[in-house]
Amino acid sequence: MKQELQEKIFTRFPWTRPDESDTKSPYTLFQLECGDGWFQLLWDLFTEIESLYRSRDTEIQLTIGQVKQKFGSLTVYIHDALPEAYEIVNRYQTLSETICESCAIESSIQQRHYYFSTLCDPCYEKRLQARAIPRRIE
Ligand SMILES: [Zn+2]
Repeated sequence: MKQELQEKIFTRFPWTRPDESDTKSPYTLFQLECGDGWFQLLWDLFTEIESLYRSRDTEIQLTIGQVKQKFGSLTVYIHDALPEAYEIVNRYQTLSETICESCAIESSIQQRHYYFSTLCDPCYEKRLQARAIPRRIE
């Protein structure tokens, strides 16, 4: 995700900002490792997590291990969170399979050239041309 969009998220949700001292965490290394099309999804996901903790009158206590696109869906690994937080994360993972990871239009998860993605056709072509997607995985 574009740096400026990531910064918007980290500013609005300071608890999502990667811990720079944890230099081995994939989250510190790669931060929000998905396309710009999922910005709103992450925004809404983090908003719901905030509401959940607010409804319990507790500070947000959880660790983000990684945020990335995996097999075409938004994958967020969290640890030490309230059980309901994992349910929120799972719900957004399913939702991401209907939204183009790159431009946010309605899309669907599909396998093309052995590669799973949730990209609309034009975005998929663009990535192919940019060689950001392997044409074939042997
Ligand atoms: Zn698209």
